[in-house]
Amino acid sequence: MSYIDEVIEEVVSKNPSEPEFHQAVKEVLESLRPVIEENEELYRREALLERIVNPERQFKFRVPWVDDKGQVHVNTGYRVQFNSAIGPYKGGLRLHPSVNLGIIKFLGFEQVFKNSLTGLPIGGGKGGSDFDPKGKSDREIMAFCQSFMTELCKYIGADTDVPAGDIGVGAREIGYLFGQYKRIKGLYEGVLTGKGLSYGGSLARTEATGYGLLYLTEELLKINGIELAGKICSVSGSGNVAIYATQKAHQLGAKVVTCSDSNGWVYDPEGIDVDALKEIKEVKRARLTEYKNYRPNSEYHEGRGVWSIKVDVALPCATQNELHLEDAKQLVSNGCLAVCEGANMPTTLEATEYLQKNKVIFAPGKAANAGGVATSALEMSQNSERLSWSFEEVDARLKRIMVDITHNIDAAAKRYDCEGNYVMGANIAGFEKVVDAMMAQGIV
Ligand code: NDP
Repeated sequence: MSYIDEVIEEVVSKNPSEPEFHQAVKEVLESLRPVIEENEELYRREALLERIVNPERQFKFRVPWVDDKGQVHVNTGYRVQFNSAIGPYKGGLRLHPSVNLGIIKFLGFEQVFKNSLTGLPIGGGKGGSDFDPKGKSDREIMAFCQSFMTELCKYIGADTDVPAGDIGVGAREIGYLFGQYKRIKGLYEGVLTGKGLSYGGSLARTEATGYGLLYLTEELLKINGIELAGKICSVSGSGNVAIYATQKAHQLGAKVVTCSDSNGWVYDPEGIDVDALKEIKEVKRARLTEYKNYRPNSEYHEGRGVWSIKVDVALPCATQNELHLEDAKQLVSNGCLAVCEGANMPTTLEATEYLQKNKVIFAPGKAANAGGVATSALEMSQNSERLSWSFEEVDARLKRIMVDITHNIDAAAKRYDCEGNYVMGANIAGFEKVVDAMMAQGIV
């Protein structure tokens, strides 16, 4: 049995109830086959892959909190510190009822390679809780965040582990988390990113993941001789990534005609109204059924369906495994040219293979959504030097980073004779730097 197959088998047997983690490990290791086989003997002796697939450390803790009626609830909190070979752990916190250790490990594992791709000195980690923020009052959100941070603060710090937002964690939650960290530790430090502008946040961090996705998409299309301007796009989700991906797509001359949430989806042939979407989601925190009140000519449908619309470019920006094989078939039969992932692992393995086989340009999330963490690292730099850069400066750096990532993944794929396979390109480019640092630091 090859070294890769042995390690995949071990991951599955040692972590039996973590299917998303298995999926992420398989996707990465399979695509690294040419690199690993070239160095199989050395890597096996060094147990390099076993070290890469095992987190350095993981915490699981109780989070008790009291609701507005005086009822006590108990959720589970997680922080997985996956790999610190190239810098302090960095990765978001997710608050969603689906969160479990396997999901946090898949996200942390992906984060290691994504962070490496940014070219910045950040290791990989991830955390969160199965707490559901939907329908909770501000006081309940604060009660949860304070309890969560009371435990989490023991493991994080500006030079050790710097969490950020993810699904269910936006500016409001980061504010409550930061306040509690400061209160307990007595330290005013850049321990979280995605902070508000009045207390150490970076301009353009809110927009960064969505904007970065579009910078990479535009550049990748250009490499393939296609212009983004004038193209019709579908976006799934209606959260942070989806909103700013839609905004930047419009600024770059493309037209986004869909968005979705976990109940249903919208088709607006005239182009999604970003201001309306922001008001519904960021101000009212309401459902997408409201969108029709702003745009009477749009359609609202219950359930899934975003990928049934005929588009040139599809941008999944909601959650993992939301684009299935059937959806991929539909996109291909509708002549879709490219799928670029704003979310983490939104495309199933079978769907990814089908798209690639059918010559659809496919950009994996670890490259395409790296703009968020890259800008988080820029926030860390600003906090360290106690300065704030202008929106234009951060945005220009973000664009440069995304263009560099695009060319790096293209070049890595070409180096291993798999031109156009950006999954391989991203995994190889991310892996090489981490491995180099791990080898240099000895058996740790
Ligand atoms: P948000 O919480 O702001 O938005 C998530 C969106 O996805 C919402 O519209 C939500 O709908 C929808 N959604 C979530 N879970 C499901 C589900 N199980 N089924 C259907 N729809 C769902 O999160 P973000 O925009 O921050 O994150 C979106 C994706 O991007 C995630 O995969 C995240 O890991 C990834 N990402 C985010 C980064 C960031 O900077 N924020 C950085 C890099 C990656 P509803 O409101 O109904 O739940």
